[in-house]
Amino acid sequence: MVRIQLRLKAVSPVAFSARRGTSNFVDTLDYVPGSALRGAVAAHYLSRIGGAGDARFQTILVKGEASFGNLYPVRLGLRSSVIPSTARSCKTFDGFLSDRDKHGVFDSLMAAASARLSGNFAALDERARCTVTRCGLPTHRFSGFYEEKAGDSGGTPPALYSKVDVSKRHVTHAGINRASQSAEPRFLYAQQVINESWREGSGGEFKPQVFAGDLLVREHQADYVRSSLLPRGTVLRLGDSRSRGLGRMEVDHIGPAETDTETTVRGRIREFNKRLAEKAGVQPNIDYISLTLQSDAIITDSFLRYETTIEGEDISRAIHAANSQCGIEARGFHLVFASADKKLVQSWNAASGYPKPDAAAITMGSVFLFKLLNGKAAELAQPLLALQESGIGQRRSEGFGRLSICDSFHWEVQEHGQPAR
Ligand SMILES: [Zn+2]
Repeated sequence: MVRIQLRLKAVSPVAFSARRGTSNFVDTLDYVPGSALRGAVAAHYLSRIGGAGDARFQTILVKGEASFGNLYPVRLGLRSSVIPSTARSCKTFDGFLSDRDKHGVFDSLMAAASARLSGNFAALDERARCTVTRCGLPTHRFSGFYEEKAGDSGGTPPALYSKVDVSKRHVTHAGINRASQSAEPRFLYAQQVINESWREGSGGEFKPQVFAGDLLVREHQADYVRSSLLPRGTVLRLGDSRSRGLGRMEVDHIGPAETDTETTVRGRIREFNKRLAEKAGVQPNIDYISLTLQSDAIITDSFLRYETTIEGEDISRAIHAANSQCGIEARGFHLVFASADKKLVQSWNAASGYPKPDAAAITMGSVFLFKLLNGKAAELAQPLLALQESGIGQRRSEGFGRLSICDSFHWEVQEHGQPAR
């Protein structure tokens, strides 16, 4: 598979409701879901390019050979990521040090894992309060999206992290009486939308709201997708209330995406185990692998029941599915720590006009730590890279189940105790 980087610029306000039900107040997600992107590309194909019987339409958009990932908000570059659920920050001044007047973010996975492994939970106490002088407020979970301002993971100078927010507002509508074709008294509702532009502070210059993410396509389809299906300048209609003028987005950038290699994954596995050993003590012949969800994941057990955590057997099964030749023991992975949440996924099938079946998903940002008893984690770099590329669980063609192995966020983001920038 080839990874293609796609960036869309909002031309009008956009809205992606998280729920199908109606209410007087409808909130939007802060990102473009892969399922909405795939539906919009399919509608674009059918209105501008060809018919539903075309072989290309069938392979890329119907049979699920391509994966349309979520597009997350970006401000500086071409890529932003999900903040892991193990990230913590000050209750009041929560944010990365490089963002103005914030008290810093730290990732608690290493501390939580070493407390679990050593049985000494006192180490977690020092993380319970903000370390900025004269603050001392409790620390809370810090969620959303981040991008790297400078440097890159593990490089020099060290990366500076920045949170990416979207600017939103409510658009109010009056209900229309069908008989009189005029406003119906007492029928007022508000829809939350993402603004098409944003600015820093109140006096800065307005900049377009952009979203970026990856598509995974087969090698022989990559040129077609880049130059014919979604060339720069293509206008798509995505999300809710398209008939009221919402949801117009334009392809702002499309090109090859940077991908991990076996060497980078092996390096991260080694570094992760080195850092964890420093915290939790050396344990010969035992290796650890962390898995951080970069999108919601829908995982079912052998009885097709939705799972709310990822067990060792799930990861072994997914590795076998991604690597047909892999000889890893099916029982090689043991879950030792999880920081996970769950959500209900509801959406529409735009082509049929019917709702898709509801599903329970493990939320993006959830973190799982697995133990490998044979101490051969570095040898698993290739199969784990294949797992990272293929994803885990169901509906991966709509961007569900994306993940990162031994994400460097877990040891690089330790801003507590550092001076403010
Ligand atoms: Zn603080």
